[in-house]
Amino acid sequence: MKPASVKLKRQPVYESEKRCLDSCSNNDSEEPPGKRSTSDNLEEEPPSRHSVHCGLKEEPPSRVATTRYRFFGDIPDSLWNDWKWQFRNRITRVEQLAQLIPLSTEEQAQLKLVTMRYPLSVTPYYLSLIDPDDPRDPIRKQAIPSPMEMTMGSVGLEDPLDEKKDTVVPGLVHRYPDRVLLVLTDICPMFCRHCTRKREWRNGGWVRSTAEVEAMLDYVSQHKAVRDIIISGGDPLTLSTRHLESIISRLRRIKHVEIIRIGTRFPVVLPQRIDNELCSMLAKHGPIWLNTHFNHVREITPEAAEACDRLVRSGVPVNNQSVLLRGVNDRIEAQMRLCHALLRIKVRPYYLFQCDEVQGTEHLRTPVETGIKIIEGMRGHTSGLAVPTFVIDLPQGGGKVALQPNYVLAQTEGELVLRNYQERLFHYRNPAKLARTEPPSEVLCPAGSTTANVPQEAAANLG
Ligand code: SF4
Repeated sequence: MKPASVKLKRQPVYESEKRCLDSCSNNDSEEPPGKRSTSDNLEEEPPSRHSVHCGLKEEPPSRVATTRYRFFGDIPDSLWNDWKWQFRNRITRVEQLAQLIPLSTEEQAQLKLVTMRYPLSVTPYYLSLIDPDDPRDPIRKQAIPSPMEMTMGSVGLEDPLDEKKDTVVPGLVHRYPDRVLLVLTDICPMFCRHCTRKREWRNGGWVRSTAEVEAMLDYVSQHKAVRDIIISGGDPLTLSTRHLESIISRLRRIKHVEIIRIGTRFPVVLPQRIDNELCSMLAKHGPIWLNTHFNHVREITPEAAEACDRLVRSGVPVNNQSVLLRGVNDRIEAQMRLCHALLRIKVRPYYLFQCDEVQGTEHLRTPVETGIKIIEGMRGHTSGLAVPTFVIDLPQGGGKVALQPNYVLAQTEGELVLRNYQERLFHYRNPAKLARTEPPSEVLCPAGSTTANVPQEAAANLG
């Protein structure tokens, strides 16, 4: 039996979206999303599917794609794979959501209250990954509002990282000496319920004006210590490729800028955005690194795998920064499966973040011990490449601190007692400190020399 499909009506364009789209069209001859007719899009060929081995052994494609065909069965691939169609047809109202996911009248009323403070936005693609019949679904928890965003809404801080304090020109945060963060827009294809910047959602959406971007570029040019630029969210890939290139190419012309990093969740929530045009542009202005944000193995679909593959083939290394979330990925097995699947699509598990203490996210936060236990359950049980670094981003702009299990049980000057991943104990001789009476080059005893000019303590070590 053919499943019933939901007819997606054209959404009212949010003020925020309009500004983003206007920004695209100001800089780009291509039509922005929301301004093209559907018939234009039908001419486009969908990209080839399922060509990349993405490690879906654990989650067969039929499971992942179930909801697409249940609710969006009448949407042809040519539209489904068009990121602008996906962006234009985001689910932003509780009434729409209720057509797709079972919600009682009471739940709908609660969610309407929540969305007045923290809006809703989910792409049809990401929504199709949700099991609509499971209220505890880990994908759902990241996308669908919860009444607890309000009932626990006073716990935490609006801006826990105190980014306002380090904002030196609008949109540019300079906290560490050698790197700066550029926030070009606050628009995202999806509003992740655990977002650190969910305070921004109420601002109606913005894209930095030309004058603001010029001020950011001036600041970077004048600060020669800045070698690393992070362009992050709101999601910078909501800007058109041409608009983004106009900024990246200017950054690239600044001699002391060595690398550019892009923080984006598009490979997860709308992987169709990672098209050949974008990848060619990124390849042209490298070295560019891309940090993305997969939180659960079920997000690693064939589409996501293809997006990451395109990036990697374009010379853009992809790292993953996941956030530890209650009921989503707060078990060793869930992290293990996620990180193994990431490696299979050539994405390096980089950070596992403790969820920041942001207002409206307390129900998703876990005790710090949970993260440490997860790392303990992974280290030694799988390859080091699969183990992310567990970090807390400190409040008040204190920066990141890496936490790990304590493997040092005792320590004297000459020895450490260490435990390994199997709880076995080992004594480890600690080499003596070398006297610092001579420059290090002499201590290294270059070829042809004798130990005669090596300090006594070091000579003893050389045996
Ligand atoms: S994509 Fe990033 S910035 Fe945007 S809502 Fe999600 S976590 Fe926040």
